[in-house]
Parts: sequence; C-alpha cells; structure tokens
Amino acid sequence: MFPFFSYFPLFLFLLLLLLSRPCFPARPLPKPPTVLTVDGHNDTWGDFARFLDIGKGSHVSGMSELKQYFKKFGYLPVPNSNNFTDNFDDRFESAVIAYQTRLGLTVTGKLDSDTISTIMSPRCGVSDAAHTLHATRHFAYFYGKPRWAKPSPVTLTYAFSPVNMIDYLSSSEIRTVFNRAFSRWASVIPVNFAETENYSLADIKIGFYTGDHGDGEPFDGVLGVLAHAFAPENGRFHLDAAETWAVDFGEDKSKVAVDLESVATHEIGHVLGLAHTPVKEAVMYPSLSPRTRKVDLKIDDVAGVQALYGSNPNFTYSSLVESAISSSGPAIGLENGSSKWVVSLVAVVLMLWLCI
Ligand SMILES: [Zn+2]
Ligand SMILES: [Zn+2]
Repeated sequence: MFPFFSYFPLFLFLLLLLLSRPCFPARPLPKPPTVLTVDGHNDTWGDFARFLDIGKGSHVSGMSELKQYFKKFGYLPVPNSNNFTDNFDDRFESAVIAYQTRLGLTVTGKLDSDTISTIMSPRCGVSDAAHTLHATRHFAYFYGKPRWAKPSPVTLTYAFSPVNMIDYLSSSEIRTVFNRAFSRWASVIPVNFAETENYSLADIKIGFYTGDHGDGEPFDGVLGVLAHAFAPENGRFHLDAAETWAVDFGEDKSKVAVDLESVATHEIGHVLGLAHTPVKEAVMYPSLSPRTRKVDLKIDDVAGVQALYGSNPNFTYSSLVESAISSSGPAIGLENGSSKWVVSLVAVVLMLWLCI
C-alpha cells in the first residue's frame, strides 16, 4: 500500500492539466438551455436576436443585414446583384458553418443560441478570413503570412496620435497599459517595442477614431466593433473612440466598459501578423465581452507569433505555465519540492502537443 504522498505529485500533475485546459482547443460543452444573454450589446447587432433558430429554407425580412455582417467578417463574398436576399440558402448555411468553425462553436449550420450570442458580442473589426497553416494548431496568419522584416535585433517603434486620443483617461494611464501589452509580446519573441514621440515616423501608429475615419473600415458607436489593426508592415492601430475604455473596472462601473489593455494586447497580435484563432481563451479570439479582462498570452498565441518571429531566448514554456498558475490564484500550493518537476512535466506535455 502506498502512502498518500506518493500520489501527491500525480494529483498535482492532473490538477495542473485541468487548470491548463484553457490552453487547449475549445471543446463543445453540453448545450445550455436556450437563453440569449449578451450584456450591453449595441443596437445594430442586438437586433440579430430575432434570427434565433431560423434554419435553411426560411425567408425572414432583414436577413440580408445578417448576411452583411457575415460579409464584413469574411464569410460571404460580395453578392452578384449588389444586394443580399433575405433567404437562408445553401451559401448562407456554408457561411454559418464556416463561422461556427472559426469561432470554436459547435458546428450545426443553424442560428442556434450560442451562434447568435457570439454574433451579437462586441468584437474586433478585423476580418476572420485567414490562412491556417497547420490542421492541429489553431492560430492563423493573414494571407501571404506578412511579418515585420527588419534586421535583427528588431525594434518596432510606436506612437500615439497627437490629435486622435480620448480625454477621460490620463496619458500616463494609457501609456502604462500599452507598455504592459507590448511587453507581453516582447517577452515571447525577439522583438522590442519602444515608444517614440515622432508619430509620423513610428512603425505603429495608435489612435482613437469615431465613425468613418478614412480607411474604409468605419467604426459603429458603442460596442459592436471595438478596434482594428492592419497586418504588417502597415502599423495602423485604431480604437473606436465611442467605447467606454477602462483601465480599472473598480473605478469604471459602466456596463459597457471595455478593458483597454485586453484590446491593446489583441490588436498588437494583428500588428505583428496574427489573424484570429478559434481558441476561445486565447488573446487572438475575435470577441470580447464588456467588463472582461483577457491579457495573458496563451499557448496558441505564443506558438503563432513564435512561428513568425522565433522565440525570445529568455522565454520558456514553463514560465508561461508558471504565470498561468500564479494568475489563477495561490490555492495550488506549489511551494513543495515537487513543484519544479511538475511544472517541467506540464511544459513537456504542452510542447509535445504543439509538435503533433
Ligand atoms: Zn482581431
Ligand atoms: Zn481604422
């Protein structure tokens, strides 16, 4: 008979695997009861709730607006006749299937409650059309796999617009948030980011804009599209000035407040060349609910950006696991002697998974 303590490392290992589950591809969960709850949706997309459970062969007035949404995010081509019909036809069913696949939803081809809820959620304005290179990995690139091609060591400069900013957050609050967001990416790839005052010469140009701001991708007011950024080596990084941008939800009680750091971290991924991932827990997942903070890079984000730029020499997967553990609370108790090999074992498993 073995004493309990001989099983303790195994128990820890299984616990860690469970806790690291968000790093793995999202799996469909048992279907919850049909309840559509999207807090603080905007008026435009909120209207899509009326298409719940509409299926193929149906004709519903206003369905063409939902098709416009699918076109905007890369799931439907521009219609031949300039206007979409209100019919739920074969092509639209294919678009729904593609959307469900790319957003990590259960693939039903129907406008079920999960799908409609996700459609109505605030999200990034960048199209989901992307090039996925590996069947078992989930991160994706823009077509042509563009990246910043500067000589090593790579330093990308960034600057804030001297004109298009918001006034209810201080300059230092905004700078602190962006500094942390850039640092997260810099810690995993051999790329440095440096703020510069010279906006016109900066590689990455950050600003807050309202409505139509001249790049063919107009913003849409509160929630809906939150921000967008362009693929390398463009460097334009635009945030919707109509949002209630927050750096501290303790201070900002608005129901529609959006975490600036989470969106900044996501858009920097685009600036570097990553497209959207279907892994819901990853930073590069396209949607983000109000009052939600999602700033830690997950394995999927790291594997994607390192495939473009290589690894930062100081980065280890065990450090990523350790940071995930520390951010999930102190209850795990890793102070004992077995912690190091448990973390290493988890890191090996994760690396093996990445190699599959
Ligand atoms: Zn995005
Ligand atoms: Zn823009």
